Amino acid sequence: VINFNPGPAGLPLPALERARDELIDFQGSGMSVMEHSHRGKEYEAVHDETISLLTELLGIPDTHQVLFLTGGASQQFAQVPMNFLHPGTSADYLMTGVWSEKAYDEARIVGQARIAATTVGPDKRYVRVPGQGELQLDPRAAYVHLTSNNTLYGTQWHTWPEVGSVPLIADMSSDFMWKPTDVSRFAFLYAGAQKNLGPSGVLIAVARKDFIAQGRRDIPKIFRYSLHAENNSLYNTPPTLAIYLCRNVLAWMKEQGGLAGMEARNRQKGELLYRSLDANAGFYRAPVERESRSFMNVVFHLPTPELDATFVAEAKKAGMVGLKGHRISGGIRASLYNAVSVDDVRALVSFLEEFARKKG
Ligand code: PLP
Repeated sequence: VINFNPGPAGLPLPALERARDELIDFQGSGMSVMEHSHRGKEYEAVHDETISLLTELLGIPDTHQVLFLTGGASQQFAQVPMNFLHPGTSADYLMTGVWSEKAYDEARIVGQARIAATTVGPDKRYVRVPGQGELQLDPRAAYVHLTSNNTLYGTQWHTWPEVGSVPLIADMSSDFMWKPTDVSRFAFLYAGAQKNLGPSGVLIAVARKDFIAQGRRDIPKIFRYSLHAENNSLYNTPPTLAIYLCRNVLAWMKEQGGLAGMEARNRQKGELLYRSLDANAGFYRAPVERESRSFMNVVFHLPTPELDATFVAEAKKAGMVGLKGHRISGGIRASLYNAVSVDDVRALVSFLEEFARKKG
């Protein structure tokens, strides 16, 4: 099947085939990678290779460090303020969708947070990200938090906001490594692996070392980023199998030309699909404003909810799954993460053009 699921999402076949071949007997050790001790040399090599592939592909500078964490991005919504929202300070949140709302709600449980910008519409939906002129930033904020790609509404930041000397934090769960990113702009960024990078179960963070070193000490040790950094993400048992699978996907990404290769492929995919939607705008409606369109999650609607449902059912018969929109936004959502190929999108485009001809 062609998998357009919003996450967990499809993984590149070579990464899965490699896992299949190594699952029972990892490099002649007579056991699976997941049966090895996380302190043994076999797993250690996988752990280190995953970090070095991330460092190489993202160009992570010495000032920053990779962390493997658990609990998903949802846990980071709480853990970020627990670490960085020092008593007496306040954090700024840029609201662009459901995930930023959830992050903001958690921060308010921990301490003081304010909305520095929101693009919520009168219907409570979001169809764009804010422009620089709309940001009302507090120059003394503990940090600014944004969601780089809004999985549910299909909007994406294409230019990072200028936040002065305030540390910038990003939830990049649904567009991590979709293209080259200047990680030095971020004091802390995090992403669940299950969309662009691997299976669920591991979260990857890239943290500025001096920033996490100043994190709060009055929280339980297990929640301190500095503790995980000091222990190279081996303070407790990491999700070894998930990290191993990320290693395989990263190796595949490197073979595909790294992040420049990913960007070329992802732009081609997004342009193919949006061009076709625009050409059939009498039938399909893509609600997101052009400059905020996401290259990862393409959201569109047919003339009626009944036609949306028929579209999803017929696409499934044609071997394309995961196209049903989120229950909040409705319609159709095609998620075009790294593992989706240009040919997969071509197949979707010919299906949707044919569908419009038949039903339009
Ligand atoms: N942030 C974004 C942008 C997401 O798309 C998701 C899940 O889809 C989450 C956070 C939540 O991730 P998790 O379920 O891993 O906690």
